[in-house]
Amino acid sequence: MDKPLFQRVALVGIGLIGSSLARVMRRDGLAGHIAVSARTQKTLDTVVRLGLADSVSLDAAEAVRDVDLVVICTPHSAYRTVVQTFAPALKQGAIVSDVGSVKKVVLDEIAPMLPAGVHLVPTHPIAGTEHSGPEAGFAELFENRWCVLTPAPGTDANAVARVRQLWQRAGMRVEIMEAERHDLVLAITSHLPHLISYTIVGTATDLEAWLKNEVIKFSAGGFRDFTRIAASDPTMWRDIFLVNKEAVLEVLGRFTEDLTALQRAIRRNEGDILFDAFTRTREIRRGVIDAQQHVAPKKPGENGK
Ligand code: NAP
Repeated sequence: MDKPLFQRVALVGIGLIGSSLARVMRRDGLAGHIAVSARTQKTLDTVVRLGLADSVSLDAAEAVRDVDLVVICTPHSAYRTVVQTFAPALKQGAIVSDVGSVKKVVLDEIAPMLPAGVHLVPTHPIAGTEHSGPEAGFAELFENRWCVLTPAPGTDANAVARVRQLWQRAGMRVEIMEAERHDLVLAITSHLPHLISYTIVGTATDLEAWLKNEVIKFSAGGFRDFTRIAASDPTMWRDIFLVNKEAVLEVLGRFTEDLTALQRAIRRNEGDILFDAFTRTREIRRGVIDAQQHVAPKKPGENGK
């Protein structure tokens, strides 16, 4: 077998994303040793049962000792606490990465907490499902998806290249982007759609009982897709909106203006305006299909709920 890409890797937090990465590293022999840390013993027991780690610990400092790469795979709100715990235990030359959905906050808040001689390469594998926890992961999750790296200018090129290689070996297409730009793009493509889904499903939740029952019964009319997105993890999404506040408020402002314009067109019976708006949006769908981003990742054996 080829030499592993990293001798020792630590995953701090291991839910959907961390366990999918562990499965890839196991499948392809990318790490000589995988150390895992999580918040609860229950999760570590699951990780051991699934054979995803060579060592487990509730103490993040113990997990990162002597590793070449640490990947933080927790929700954003846990970052400061876990980094505070493990930073003093990092060896010189270690790489710290993460998989969080918002990137500027990582450079702003985590970089100053790391010792000199440690390289920070923030990462966002843009792949996921609405499921959480180590049992929800699967090695194929990342295949043909994009992974965005947002290292600060001047970051050690070798560290960036090694992180890039890891995600490429997981089947991802990798792009390097400025963190602020990443956060704005994702605010439109991911964060706003989640906010809209949470809102629509929330509105349905507050309906009178009889109406709610009919909504659920006839949900195939479009509502069903929103319920899938709105089933996403509440902790993770609370954190995303709080740490990407500025970009989300920016795109939400534009969205609200566009929604108001359509509302007015409906009230005034302005069919041309509606028709033109709905025609323009078809082009975006065509673009998404051309870019092969139209199929949601599914766990092997799942028939897609
Ligand atoms: P997840 O399935 O909910 O797993 C979260 C993991 O973090 C668990 O192992 C949990 O440990 C640990 N954790 C939570 N709070 C902690 C704390 N205070 N201290 C230490 N560990 C803690 O999460 P996920 O869906 O994999 O998401 C992880 C990260 O990936 C998030 O930052 C998210 O923004 C990003 N991301 C998610 C997706 C997606 O679709 N899900 C896609 C791309 C990126 P316990 O189980 O022991 O509590």
